[in-house]
Amino acid sequence: MINQLFLSLGGNLGNTREIFEGAYPLIEKKIGKISVYSSIYQTEAWGPIPQADFLNQVILVSTTLPPQACLKEMLAIEKEFCRERKERWGPRTLDLDILYYSDVTIAEEDLTVPHPRIADRKFILTPLAEIAPFYVDPTSGKSMVELLDSCTDSSQVNRSV
Ligand code: AMP
Repeated sequence: MINQLFLSLGGNLGNTREIFEGAYPLIEKKIGKISVYSSIYQTEAWGPIPQADFLNQVILVSTTLPPQACLKEMLAIEKEFCRERKERWGPRTLDLDILYYSDVTIAEEDLTVPHPRIADRKFILTPLAEIAPFYVDPTSGKSMVELLDSCTDSSQVNRSV
């Protein structure tokens, strides 16, 4: 059975574009075929610690793995970059999150699907609305465009060229 996994990539340390490029083949090898890529967006980091802007992207992956197995592979992929990070760039270079797994709802200790903060984050909703504007969030019943319209996150999210 093939499921549709919306996966988000984020990072703000090292050459994030290159890191994303390095992650795609690992995702395809371990999780499934990537059918759609959003643009890459540049997002200002918020919070008390000044830090570099983030790059964010959402991809759609066709997978036969169950959600927990996807998460396990994602954490392993993050770690592969983590190893490189320690040697070359310092911590936190690649963050992978499960946004949606078909219309499955999961509430487990280590995995919540749909991702609980989608509706609050413009840097997630903007790429989601780009690649799947009419996809309906199984929790709220709202489309990505509707969620983006009602999102109160005021941070700047710009397509990165
Ligand atoms: P963070 O580094 O803040 O993204 O947190 C990663 C941890 O969040 C993972 O170890 C997961 O166990 C947990 N988690 C819960 N729900 C999700 C999700 N939908 N996608 C990815 N990680 C999740």
